[in-house]
Amino acid sequence: MSTTIGKIFDLTVKKFPNKPAIYDVRKNIRYTYQEWCERVNRLANALLKEGVKKGDRVSTFMFNTEELGTALFACAKIGAVFNPINFRLTSEEVAFIFSDAAPKVVIFEKALEPVITAIEGRFNQTSFWFIDADKPDYASSFQEKVTEVSPQDINIEVVETDIYAFIYTSGTTGRPKGVMHTHRNMVDQSVLCIAAEKLEANDVGLVTAPMFHCAELHCAFIPRVHVGASNVILHQFNSKTILQLFEQEKITKLFAAPTMWNMLLQEDLSQYDLSSLKLGLYGAAPMAPSLVHALHDRLGISLIQAYGMTEMGPAITFLSEKDQLRKAGSAGQAALSHDIRIARTREDGPSDPDDLVPTGETGEIIVQGPCMMIGYYNREDATEKVMYKGWYHSGDIGYLDAEGYLYVNDRVDDMIISGGENIYPREVEDILHGHKGVLDVAVVGQPDDRWGETVTAFVVKKNPAITAEELDEYCKNSDMLANYKRPRQYVFCELLPRNASGKIQKFVLRKQLEELLTPDSSN
Ligand code: ATP
Repeated sequence: MSTTIGKIFDLTVKKFPNKPAIYDVRKNIRYTYQEWCERVNRLANALLKEGVKKGDRVSTFMFNTEELGTALFACAKIGAVFNPINFRLTSEEVAFIFSDAAPKVVIFEKALEPVITAIEGRFNQTSFWFIDADKPDYASSFQEKVTEVSPQDINIEVVETDIYAFIYTSGTTGRPKGVMHTHRNMVDQSVLCIAAEKLEANDVGLVTAPMFHCAELHCAFIPRVHVGASNVILHQFNSKTILQLFEQEKITKLFAAPTMWNMLLQEDLSQYDLSSLKLGLYGAAPMAPSLVHALHDRLGISLIQAYGMTEMGPAITFLSEKDQLRKAGSAGQAALSHDIRIARTREDGPSDPDDLVPTGETGEIIVQGPCMMIGYYNREDATEKVMYKGWYHSGDIGYLDAEGYLYVNDRVDDMIISGGENIYPREVEDILHGHKGVLDVAVVGQPDDRWGETVTAFVVKKNPAITAEELDEYCKNSDMLANYKRPRQYVFCELLPRNASGKIQKFVLRKQLEELLTPDSSN
């Protein structure tokens, strides 16, 4: 038997037909596994009727909805390639993905219609179906298609080496690239997440991070389906609604990016009963140790961190519950059957997996593991570079300590070099996060004639009275921050630019800085 995402779905349905599978909060609709399976089968049959064949792509462009999950499993059953697209992208960015992936069917959400209307005329070979998350009566072309067909089971042979999905990177480093994952990759990823998160059938997970991103999809949503747990799907992040749902739905597990956890902590937690919540998973971006401590103290739940990247499934390390405080700041140990190395970085090409730095020294994080992508779609050049000598080259700088725990310093591209010294923005950010007047912070390099670069901190204030002088004094008094790492400039702002997975878009900040420093030519 070939173990595929669709096959495991069917086994779950067989085991737990009457268990709650999905609650779509926006539409107030609940499905048991049996009911959901019928819906998945209907969509699979509707796609077949539309002419979708094995290997054809089906894209989704929507916020978090039941239909996204339904589309994932329907594609898995017929061997179509599932392609969830970031709902924040502009028309032209979406058009780029459509031209690259050439989807046969696009399922989009009515609320995002203007983005699609602007480009759909260019894609004559593609059928566009819409869903309307605001209509509990399901008035949508998607609904018409699934009502027209029967819920009969699918009989198409899908094997574990077939491609399950194309997941496009966010494109912070150039054009987005379609990461190709097989069913096998995803089954392995699911198994290691189930083990790390101790997932079981009576868990109830809240889905609030974007489902198009692999952190939520692969580390939380799919593994929960595989064990027969329930998924409560929230259309978009909202702190108060989340806290109410914890109480109302007796949520036991939640994945959230650090910025989301931070927002939850800004609420008055004493108003809610959070006693059902057992485990919080965080990752997708660095989390300051002060935030880990705050979560631990104020929520009193177990925490697990995952570190990884779309290309690797994503999770490649976990920091377990027992290590949260002892190893705060670390990304944890290599996940099941993963091998992580720290390679010396090179100016003239990819780092060499055989040229490693000693324990405790920094270099590029490279990894091998069972969930490694098979490559980027249509991008052999880029694939070769990042999979040099069979190791995935993460582009992250980090080190391993003597116990084998990984520390992620920063992206190679975000590192600041000042007076010949390397500065990792993250260490400066972690210090500033510890100041109680700071809500959010991002550090970037500012070009400087004398030093090459100096450190600039963009700060979102929690306490409006806070000044640059006070923060400077705070950094001077920190015994964790050498003088050359101290920010020489502070820029106060309302909000930091983040992508949908919660990562700060430093390229946007660097551009803002450039504009701030360029004298206005009209003067
Ligand atoms: P991009 O296109 O910039 O890669 P993305 O959000 O589409 O962004 P991901 O594959 O999710 O792509 O990003 C992976 C990167 O996120 C990692 O290489 C690392 O820099 C960062 N990251 C993920 N998890 C963590 C973590 N736990 N701690 C620190 N950084 C993390």
